[in-house]
Amino acid sequence: MAESNGIPKTVNMTTQCPFCGEVFEYPMYPEIVIPGDHKLKKKILNKSLFFPTCPRCKETSKLKPRCLYRNETKKEMFVVTDEQGDTEFEVLLKSGNIHFNDIHTDDDIVDFMKGMYKRRVVRNVDSFREKILLSDNNYDDRIIELMKLSLSGLIEKENGEPVYRIFLEDTAGSRMMFTAILGSHAPYEYVTIETAANVYNQYRDKYLHRLGRPEEDEYIATDQKWARKSGLLKDEDAGMIIPT
Ligand SMILES: [Zn+2]
Repeated sequence: MAESNGIPKTVNMTTQCPFCGEVFEYPMYPEIVIPGDHKLKKKILNKSLFFPTCPRCKETSKLKPRCLYRNETKKEMFVVTDEQGDTEFEVLLKSGNIHFNDIHTDDDIVDFMKGMYKRRVVRNVDSFREKILLSDNNYDDRIIELMKLSLSGLIEKENGEPVYRIFLEDTAGSRMMFTAILGSHAPYEYVTIETAANVYNQYRDKYLHRLGRPEEDEYIATDQKWARKSGLLKDEDAGMIIPT
């Protein structure tokens, strides 16, 4: 149960395979702190954490974790929770009064003060992984949400199906790979869309100066709902994005 000596706290969680019904235990980390937990960060990015493989049927599924990821170097906090709506986590992040047994000293409390950290709450493991991936690649998540909103419009037009969720899957050199989950109910269809990485620069140059500091409260729930509500893409020609 020690965390101060670099050994992360582990909680064993029971999960049920959605494919075959097998119930199995899985290690969960309620708190991941950078620097220190680099191995856990890597595991999230390469999907060996929170994406367990069933010991019986070998299918991979997604967990619904509750986890706080804190990057002390970049002053970022990402919370994943499966609670819907305006949860206690958003309220806690706004007040800076977050409880994950993570405040050990008075210095921490000062650091946690409102506006010091870029704070985000997400509702699923895909979005959680995406926030970490974006941070790793120094992408502004608000710009990415605007790109995704444009992409969604194109995908929906092309497939005639609503986009249930869309997220950056990977970046490789000059390409960005997005995954879109299509459909209004299960079974969902997964589609991969690639776009040139320099589209990000075009979006950033166009929209970043219209946004406030990423640490502000209004960006705590930066997601597709936020992107629509921002109104920034209104009357926008989605032709800036070239999917292949
Ligand atoms: Zn299974």
